[in-house]
Formats: sequence, C-alpha cells, structure tokens
Amino acid sequence: MEHLNIPPENHVKVLGGQGWIGLIDHLGTEATIVNAARVSFGKLKKEMDDRDITLLEYLIANRHTSPLEHVVFTFSVHCPLFVRGQWHRHRTWSYNEISRRYTEIDLEFYTPVALRRQAESNRQASYADPDFDDAELRNLIRQHNADSLALYEKLLASGVCREQARGVLPQNMMVTFWGTVDLSNLLHFLQLRDSDHAQYEIREYAIAIKQLIRPIVPHVVEYYEKNLAGK
Ligand SMILES: Cc1cc2nc3c(=O)[nH]c(=O)nc-3n(C[C@H](O)[C@H](O)[C@H](O)COP(=O)(O)OP(=O)(O)OC[C@H]3O[C@@H](n4cnc5c(N)ncnc54)[C@H](O)[C@@H]3O)c2cc1C
Repeated sequence: MEHLNIPPENHVKVLGGQGWIGLIDHLGTEATIVNAARVSFGKLKKEMDDRDITLLEYLIANRHTSPLEHVVFTFSVHCPLFVRGQWHRHRTWSYNEISRRYTEIDLEFYTPVALRRQAESNRQASYADPDFDDAELRNLIRQHNADSLALYEKLLASGVCREQARGVLPQNMMVTFWGTVDLSNLLHFLQLRDSDHAQYEIREYAIAIKQLIRPIVPHVVEYYEKNLAGK
C-alpha cells in the first residue's frame, strides 16, 4: 500500500522540497466544457477546433461559468498548517485530511527556506531582503519545531490523549490533505492565491497547480495567464 506522506514522482515539489502537491484524479477535458455549453444542440465533440477554443474563451470572459464546473480535479497536498488554514477558507473545495487523532508517525515541520522581512505599509505583506542574515533565526525555528515535537511525545508518553496533545504542535507542522474542486472555482482560487497579494508559501502551490492542470486544460491555462492572472 502507498503511504500518503510519500509523494509519487509526478507530484510537484514546493517550499524547497519540504512540501508537494499532486493531481491524483480528474474528470473531464476542454471538450467537456464546450459540449456542456452546447448541450442544447444535442451534439458531442471529442476534439477541439478553433471555434471551440473561441467559445471556451468567450465562456470564461463572460463569466458563463457553469460549463467549467463539469471539469473536476482532486489534488493531494502536503503543506504547513498555516497554508492549510488559508486554503480551507475556499469553501467551494471538498477536503479530507490525515488525522493526528489516529497517527503520530511521520510528523514533519516546515523550516522556511529563507526568512522575509515585514512590510511596513501593509501588515499582510512581506518582502525578500538579500541582506537579511537569517541563518541563526532559521536554526531557532528548527529548534522550536523539535522542542514542540519533544513536548508532544512527552504528553503522549504520559498518557495524554492525542486530541489534546496535538495542541502544542506549531503552525509549521506539515499536514496532508486531499482537495477536490471544479475548474470554475479553481480559476477563482488561482486569481486569489497566484497573486502578489497572497502569502508567498501558498502562491508556490497555486503556481504548481497551473503546471499540473496545463496538460488537461491547456487553452484555459493560457487564457488565464493572459487575461486573469494578477487581475
Ligand atoms: C490576500 C488575501 C488575504 C486575506 N486575508 C484575510 C484576513 O485577513 N482575514 C480573513 O478572515 N480572511 C482573509 N482572506 C480570506 C478571504 O476572505 C476568503 O475567505 C478566501 O480568499 C476564500 O475566497 P472565496 O470566499 O471567494 O472562495 P470560496 O469560499 O471558494 O467561494 C467562491 C465564491 O463562491 C461564493 N460563495 C461561497 N460561499 C458563499 C456563501 N456562504 N455566501 C455567498 N457566496 C458564497 C462567493 O462568490 C465566493 O467568492 C484573505 C484572502 C486573500 C486572498
């Protein structure tokens, strides 16, 4: 049996190799979208031609989104708890996650690849400073992660239940979840998270998503990059 925390080769690594995301299932193609849009004519097409691509772009441009909902993706995501918190605000996804109530094996913690400075004008923003000497600070984070794990294990060894002991694990704890979303809501997610306004860490996952879905919906991703990204 495959272990969920071991990513297959085709998963995309992010966060300096500490996180990953994979496309584990999908339903529909770009032909599905144009067939859904033209369903009233009772005709089915398997291959896309130029008129279909124009229709596809028209649907997205005019927010005629329901045909896009017939294309669905399931991703497997390995990310820090704080990224998961931001991700799960997207209510149009369906989620399932490995539970720390059932297992304490394979606990991993994220140590940022580089620390960024706090932006002064915007409390939600940060910026990379090439002169930031962060080696010692990153070591402190690594040590804090290890100390949290030691306390968690001590609580378990003392007979404390998992559901309370996990409260001492930090936001840097890595979690693995499955998320399923239709293409219309995925484009909305990308507009919000593949953006300068989004936190750098979740943006890495959004960029990886584009890479994963491009072979399945190439014209949609191309249209998104030209017309929707950053808007
Ligand atoms: C840069 C950034 C900063 C953020 N900062 C904060 C913050 O400081 N604090 C905070 O709490 N959140 C914050 N958020 C989260 C944000 O408010 C949204 O919760 C999150 O982006 C999900 O967006 P959504 O609701 O559009 O997505 P989804 O939940 O996927 O919904 C998609 C769309 O479906 C419709 N929809 C879904 N549910 C409902 C509903 N119940 N009623 C009506 N329409 C619905 C809406 O049109 C919605 O846009 C931030 C998000 C970003 C991108």
